[in-house]
Amino acid sequence: MSCLVFKFGGTSVATIERVLHVAKRIQKEKEKGYDIVVVVSAMGKTTDKLVEMAHEIMPNPSKREMDTLLTTGEQVTISLLSMALQSLGLSAQSFTGWQAGILTEGIPSDSRILEIQSENVRKALDKGQVAVVAGFQGVDSNNNITTLGRGGSDTTAVALAAALGAERCDIYTDVDGVYTSDPRYVPKARKLQELSYDEMLELANLGAGVLHPRAVEFAKNYKIPLAVRSSYVEDEGTIMKEEVEVEKDLVVRGVAFMADIVRVTVGYEGNYKGSLVNIFTVLADNHINVDIIVQTILEGVEPSVSFTITKENLADTARVLEANKSKIGYCHVNYEEDVAKVSIVGSGMVSNPGVAAKMFDRLHKENITLKMVSTSEIKISVVIPQESMLLTANALHDEFELAASLAIQV
Ligand code: ADP
Ligand code: ASP
Ligand code: MG
Repeated sequence: MSCLVFKFGGTSVATIERVLHVAKRIQKEKEKGYDIVVVVSAMGKTTDKLVEMAHEIMPNPSKREMDTLLTTGEQVTISLLSMALQSLGLSAQSFTGWQAGILTEGIPSDSRILEIQSENVRKALDKGQVAVVAGFQGVDSNNNITTLGRGGSDTTAVALAAALGAERCDIYTDVDGVYTSDPRYVPKARKLQELSYDEMLELANLGAGVLHPRAVEFAKNYKIPLAVRSSYVEDEGTIMKEEVEVEKDLVVRGVAFMADIVRVTVGYEGNYKGSLVNIFTVLADNHINVDIIVQTILEGVEPSVSFTITKENLADTARVLEANKSKIGYCHVNYEEDVAKVSIVGSGMVSNPGVAAKMFDRLHKENITLKMVSTSEIKISVVIPQESMLLTANALHDEFELAASLAIQV
């Protein structure tokens, strides 16, 4: 029988009323004859509240204990939703990450799915049960409970869809699709009918929180048709697939932004002869992700390397750099907080020169200070002062006429 995987995020299951609503929605799909797996997040802001509780005890709690704490949120939802389905006369069974056979590797709080041993879920489906799986969690080879990073329930859903050979994976959320930018902060953002995996992957990696980046990676690698849909209104939502028709004249498809970035600048003595790259080995060994890197080696100027990290990683980065000062060989380091990254994304950019010029011209007119720039075939990112982030996002959305094609489409 064909299998569908649905994922319902925190707001979609925030109250008992919403859980019952979700159960009714699942019942409708089940009646169409599909095998159904439902992945759920913790209810409402539960995960944030658990994080706050931990921070009341200590500022930097152990990541292992954080994972054990945070996974409890999803466990509440799977049992309640299973009960709600049973109350409607459906057969349903809940699964925590390890019960669903989700094996992970990597560091706690940001683990990756290594493998899914899906026999238990398969057995439940074969018995006609709806399988209700806790998102965002798994178990590692040492039996530690792990999490996949904030927003990771999307990844659980798509990975399960791949493991079970599902026909489709639908991510139900509080927006009715993927927009040209975050509709909460860019009022003119417009819903996209479809998007290529590559574009969505860039948008997600660059801060469009509507999908967890690794979920898009799984969908792309296993060619899973992926949709983002509203859990409130019945509508097709946005479909992600390999190739999509580029809308006429639309080179840029979306604007993404990310707050709370830190620019780290490491300076070396003028006569420094070592490799500026040593620093990145040390950071990688300590699982610290580095984003945009700019190295400056100019005659008569002190050599330096600047890179960005997330604010979450600031304390760890400072500790690691300090502990490895002599090994890296730098003489001073500066941390600049309150910076943000705004990016434009579109696969049409490859064949359209002048996109960067248009972007920089608009930013100049808006008096935005550019601190760093980074480009790839389908994106251009700028690092700017955080206070200008929303102004920049809205200005670029306007400059590339992302709202305008609404008129063409209707
Ligand atoms: P869930 O709890 O269902 O996982 P999230 O809060 O993780 O929901 O994701 C949905 C939110 O993503 C929306 O409310 C919206 O503010 C935000 N978002 C960011 N970028 C986009 C975008 N390009 N399109 C749609 N929503 C976006
Ligand atoms: N509950 C987790 C979070 O809030 C995982 C998720 O919702 O995807 O990040
Ligand atoms: Mg989410």
